[in-house]
Amino acid sequence: MSGYDAIIIGGGPAGLTAGLYLARARRRVILLEKETFGGPVINYERIENYPGFSEGVSGCELVTQMAEQAANAGLQMEMGEVVEVENFTSCRSVVCSDGTTYTAPIVIIAGGAHPKSMNVPGEDRLKGKGIIHCAFCDGGQFVDKVVAVCGGGDAGISGALYLAQLCTKVYVLEFMPKLNASAILQERAAANPKIEIMTATTVVSIVGENSVEGIEISRAGAEKTVLPVDGVLVHVGVQANTDYLEGLLTLDEQGRIKVNQRMETEVPYILAAGDIRGGSPNQVVIAAGDGAIAGITAERLLQQL
Ligand SMILES: Cc1cc2nc3c(=O)[nH]c(=O)nc-3n(C[C@H](O)[C@H](O)[C@H](O)COP(=O)(O)OP(=O)(O)OC[C@H]3O[C@@H](n4cnc5c(N)ncnc54)[C@H](O)[C@@H]3O)c2cc1C
Repeated sequence: MSGYDAIIIGGGPAGLTAGLYLARARRRVILLEKETFGGPVINYERIENYPGFSEGVSGCELVTQMAEQAANAGLQMEMGEVVEVENFTSCRSVVCSDGTTYTAPIVIIAGGAHPKSMNVPGEDRLKGKGIIHCAFCDGGQFVDKVVAVCGGGDAGISGALYLAQLCTKVYVLEFMPKLNASAILQERAAANPKIEIMTATTVVSIVGENSVEGIEISRAGAEKTVLPVDGVLVHVGVQANTDYLEGLLTLDEQGRIKVNQRMETEVPYILAAGDIRGGSPNQVVIAAGDGAIAGITAERLLQQL
């Protein structure tokens, strides 16, 4: 389908904000989303660091409002998984898994990132049998149980604090000598009697026959041990959702796309914004800001065409 000024891939905060800006510029824009408009933020219990909400805001409320605001401005949003982007001299084509193809002069890639695996024995086999990647979505199965959270960044500590409301005990296992989460989250975790933080700790394997029964760890100067746990929450970083872009764009080791300050990639008229771009600190406010920059850049490029 042609006749669009821009195609946006991904309906999280970055894509919705880019769409808002372009729709308000009265451009004909389509946003394609493969799972949920709003993206994974829709599942987060509370976002406390998005400006403008003194008491924090539920992820669902925040991104539902973003989607409504963009739709009210005139953004067209369709379900569709993009599997290919082609670059031609005068336009770009975006191909969806059902074969539908859209063309436009500008493409904005805002497909975000997904949680990385630890790649330890037992992890693949026990996925969905006690190993989870989202405390708010899947933590309910661990009421009055013991869990381990792998990763001491913001996502890991937020997850640990949430799980501590449900579980009898939460171990936080961090490979580095110190946690990496914001100081305010570290303070809350340290003050929570249900949370035990273990830094400089390497996860060796996940143990269990048909479901998670324990997590094997190693610490400097100590024998390997198995902590008996019923569940494992994995937050050890993210990998960008860019498999389908290999060959078109240069990707870094996390699969992220290199952009300049205007969110332009190395390929003219293809922009990238949010968690998917190199150097992103993985924050909703930054993704929204990137989306605004991408929208403004796209509008300037369209004016020059
Ligand atoms: C557990 C957890 C808690 C977090 N808590 C906070 C917090 O409190 N505060 C904060 O600021 N940040 C938080 N973050 C980070 C925040 O979620 C991200 O920075 C933000 O969502 C990035 O927005 P985005 O639009 O770039 O990508 P996303 O929100 O990931 O959206 C990308 C969208 O693109 C879609 N997509 C991907 N590939 C395709 C394709 N090929 N075709 C079509 N659609 C596609 C995806 O389905 C998704 O909906 C948290 C992250 C995690 C994992």
